[in-house]
Amino acid sequence: MRLHVVSFGCQMSVADGEELASPLKDRGFTAVAEPDAANAIVLNTCTVRQHAEDKALSLIGRLREWKDKDPERVLIVAGCAAERLGPWIQKRFPYVDLVVGAKSIEDYPRIVEEALGARFDALAETRQGFDGQGAGAGPRTGWASPCSAFVTIMRGCNYSCSYCIVPAVRGRELYRPLDTVLAEARAKVALGAKEITLLGQTVNSWHAADGQRQVFFPELLMRMGGIDGLERLRFESPHPHYVTDDMIAAMVGTPAVCGQLHLPIQSGSDRLLKIMRRSYDSAEILDKTARLRRAMPHVEVSTDIIVGFPSETEEDFERTLDLVRRLRPSWSYTFKYSPREGTESAKMADDVPDAAKEERLQRLNALCDELTEEALSARVGRVVEVLDEQGGFGRTGDGFKISWPETGPAGRVVKVRVIGTGRRVLKGESDERT
Ligand code: SAH
Ligand code: SF4
Repeated sequence: MRLHVVSFGCQMSVADGEELASPLKDRGFTAVAEPDAANAIVLNTCTVRQHAEDKALSLIGRLREWKDKDPERVLIVAGCAAERLGPWIQKRFPYVDLVVGAKSIEDYPRIVEEALGARFDALAETRQGFDGQGAGAGPRTGWASPCSAFVTIMRGCNYSCSYCIVPAVRGRELYRPLDTVLAEARAKVALGAKEITLLGQTVNSWHAADGQRQVFFPELLMRMGGIDGLERLRFESPHPHYVTDDMIAAMVGTPAVCGQLHLPIQSGSDRLLKIMRRSYDSAEILDKTARLRRAMPHVEVSTDIIVGFPSETEEDFERTLDLVRRLRPSWSYTFKYSPREGTESAKMADDVPDAAKEERLQRLNALCDELTEEALSARVGRVVEVLDEQGGFGRTGDGFKISWPETGPAGRVVKVRVIGTGRRVLKGESDERT
């Protein structure tokens, strides 16, 4: 039996996609890259922007032919768009075998079992929920590459950013216990992970009890840093509110923590940040990054930005460009505002014409690309440490992708001399002196 998994969206979605595949793998399914070769497809959807949802729906439509070729084939649609549109998806695409929303991820193995039990043998193992050692806690799921693994430490979001559908489709924050997180990380390191990325929508809001004490994210970083054999530690996606001096001190004091921080600003206009309900202003962003850079001079910052939020004026947009110029992110993920049904901002007029959104996006991208190019070029001539993830391809600690002529087995941190740049990547040659 062969399984094909498609995940739309962020790293969390990719990690969830593997988790969603896991009950089927427990039944003996093996992963294949091509849908045509598969007996089952798990489609993990994203709904954060209309475009992401449309892509998933269009793929479900195209998979009708795949399903018609062999009615024994199984099509499972899961994730955030499934949460938002569940009954509609089932009605619109009756050939889908199972629609499971993001909030049901803990129950997913049982749901798969109930829905498909008649078609396959019983599940090989019973699983417990998020609080225990269950789904997603297993060391076999959640790998970006054989030496880089994800560990989901929280789910959901307690914020209510006015444009964002995530709290509605993922629910309130749920934190995994400290012991469970550490146990999963240790198990993954024992299986070959040299790098771990902690995942959560507001990953640095994580906290959990340790006996009578509360442990907060900075301490988690330090405890993770104590895991023998773990060379690199990343986390995604932190919320600026929880980027505190304690967190910065923990980053500096934990050698495994990579010199990279994703700090989503969304806008540089304080007026819009208020309406977005982001809980910070542009001065706070600059203050926090200045503290971070003082403490960790080699750190690189990346960000997320939305253009064309309701009522955004040219002046608001200029504030965003100003903030980007001062923040100097080495990577930026830029989005046109997309009204999501049920969110607070969807009730406001989507009054920035699409042509203006597009024009602003292009201007913003030109600036962001320039900053990325500068950061890449500044590395030419330097020797960087890279975790070789694929034999000649990997990432630097500060988050740059780099390729070089393959020299040895993947999974080692190697020294590479940067000799040039490509589009969004560095090019290098080995600098290992043996
Ligand atoms: N929890 C993360 C963001 C998750 S969503 C955080 O707070 O940073 C990922 C990104 O999608 C957001 O940072 C935002 O830039 C973008 N996004 C979310 N909702 C959007 C919408 N309605 N329209 C356009 N972009 C959106
Ligand atoms: Fe969405 Fe805001 Fe929560 Fe991020 S913090 S997931 S943008 S509501």
